Amino acid sequence: MKQLTILVVEDDKLNRDMVKAAFKEDGHIVCTAASIGECRKALEEIKPDIIVLDRGLPDGDGLQLCLNIKKDSALKTIPILMLTGKAEVADKILGLRFGADDYLSKPFDIDELRARVDAIIRRVYGNLTERMTRCGITIDIKSKTVTLKDRPIELTNREFALLRAFMENPNIVLTRESLIKAVWNGAELASSKVVDVTVMNLRRKLGEEESPICSVRSCGYKFVSAD
Ligand code: CA
Repeated sequence: MKQLTILVVEDDKLNRDMVKAAFKEDGHIVCTAASIGECRKALEEIKPDIIVLDRGLPDGDGLQLCLNIKKDSALKTIPILMLTGKAEVADKILGLRFGADDYLSKPFDIDELRARVDAIIRRVYGNLTERMTRCGITIDIKSKTVTLKDRPIELTNREFALLRAFMENPNIVLTRESLIKAVWNGAELASSKVVDVTVMNLRRKLGEEESPICSVRSCGYKFVSAD
């Protein structure tokens, strides 16, 4: 996933710090605000990819701020995830009606917050991740083209799907089983051997020695990227 700039608006310090730490750990840039005033100030300086907005703020209702952001032509495209201590369904509907993109009740699980943010980002910016460059390799999901240092590379459909899986998960060991799932849709015909042969072909096309795809002994493969 690409690095995001996330604005967390929350007056509860413990909660704010927890959310900040979690997103920072995921490699994102996190800005924080403890009030509506601070949020407005932050929005003059940065344009976040998403705002995580608490409802109960010391200088007003986060819901009203949400509505105002969604009415502002310069800001309305920024997705907002509302947090609230009130779990009522009516509140949830109200939140979504005020333009929030999603809604999470407190107390929440930090992994659920991560998953919700991921889902919003995918939904709103889906096309942003359609083109990725790592290690001089550019993959364009829409046009199904790949270039290596600006030179076009011809890949089969499987090789393309494999490269995509690697590039979307840099520096993570992908097991042969997970690759079969992602690239062969779990087809029973696909064996570890098929994965190995396809990876080998892909590596060859990516310039073998320079290829960022490394074998991780008795585990699987990893796309090593400093980008
Ligand atoms: Ca609060």
